[in-house]
Amino acid sequence: MDLLIENGVFQAEDGRPADTVDGSGLTAMFGLWDCHAHAGGLMYDPDAAGYFEGAPDRTIRAGQNFRQAVEMGVTGVRCVDEADDLDLAWGRAYQAGVFLGPRVVGAGRGIRTTGGHGTAFPRVYTQMEAELIVDGPSAMARAVRRQVERGAQWIKIMLTGGLYSPHEAASDGQFTEAELAVLMEVANQRRIPVAAHCGGTEPAIAFSRLGGRSIEHGYELDERAAEVMARNGTWLVPTLGVTHDQEYIAAEGWPEHAAARSRELMPAHAAALHACVEAGVKVAVGADLNPIGPRLHRELEMLERAGMDRRWVLHAASVGGRELNGLGGASTPDPGTAADMVLVEGNPMESISTLRRPVLVVAHGRVVFSRRGRGEV
Ligand SMILES: [Zn+2]
Repeated sequence: MDLLIENGVFQAEDGRPADTVDGSGLTAMFGLWDCHAHAGGLMYDPDAAGYFEGAPDRTIRAGQNFRQAVEMGVTGVRCVDEADDLDLAWGRAYQAGVFLGPRVVGAGRGIRTTGGHGTAFPRVYTQMEAELIVDGPSAMARAVRRQVERGAQWIKIMLTGGLYSPHEAASDGQFTEAELAVLMEVANQRRIPVAAHCGGTEPAIAFSRLGGRSIEHGYELDERAAEVMARNGTWLVPTLGVTHDQEYIAAEGWPEHAAARSRELMPAHAAALHACVEAGVKVAVGADLNPIGPRLHRELEMLERAGMDRRWVLHAASVGGRELNGLGGASTPDPGTAADMVLVEGNPMESISTLRRPVLVVAHGRVVFSRRGRGEV
């Protein structure tokens, strides 16, 4: 079929194109989304590289990461906590066509409490501003308004503990009721969606009831949480790799307390995903690990290994990401839908690995990567 793209969206097919590419014999699909990324992040950083660098170094690393990702068919990246709001700057640059890259939506700096998740992450970055450390309701209101002012498309909160540090539990809440209520009230008023790092059922239920848009990780969610999330339209971004990819965790040199907690949580994490799918919770895909391109593809494999069928995985990783990020839930290139897509050899339903090496990648309606010379595709 012919696809006509103008102003970043697909158009009705009877228009007259200014430029054409021949994609005969290739399969077209909406591009993939990594819905949980930290493009400049170093995770545990055993070499302490982060201690010596400044925001420009991190910004450049993030740019390289985005570039590799888009060459591997990732046309959308949702950044959920990034130092100095550098994700927002990249997002604007790609949107404007200053650089060719994926669609980047971001939360800028995440929000956590004093001593909350992220505190021991993993060393002090002395030369840039990481999470906003926020305590008390009025400070929460100010933090959300600050992020809106900076141009964030999401608010990211560290609602519970996680894997990182010995002094927190993955499912225990870290905000007071009053802090969460004010944060959600201001976010809802400003119509900005909120993503919560959240391991446990009770915090997930409270967040979902207040209008929370997405739960990240969801390590120990049970059927009750799944039911509430499904009813309220709260999404799950499971990031299975952080508990399921023990090979990666060993290779990256995670400290033993974190690797042990990751191993312990693996069965609960898989069960939580199944409970959510069963209850009808919408799921998008995120890797939470770097580099984005290779790790996102690995996450697709992890989801299949956890029992999700390929059609479900491909849908969650493409249409799911689009819908979560406000581009609509259409699964076909209808007129008016965002022209973010890949052309690949063969059929991803038969060989999912073909998605790792797309022939052509389109984001914001522009060709951002082509494996062949101009005019050849
Ligand atoms: Zn994360």
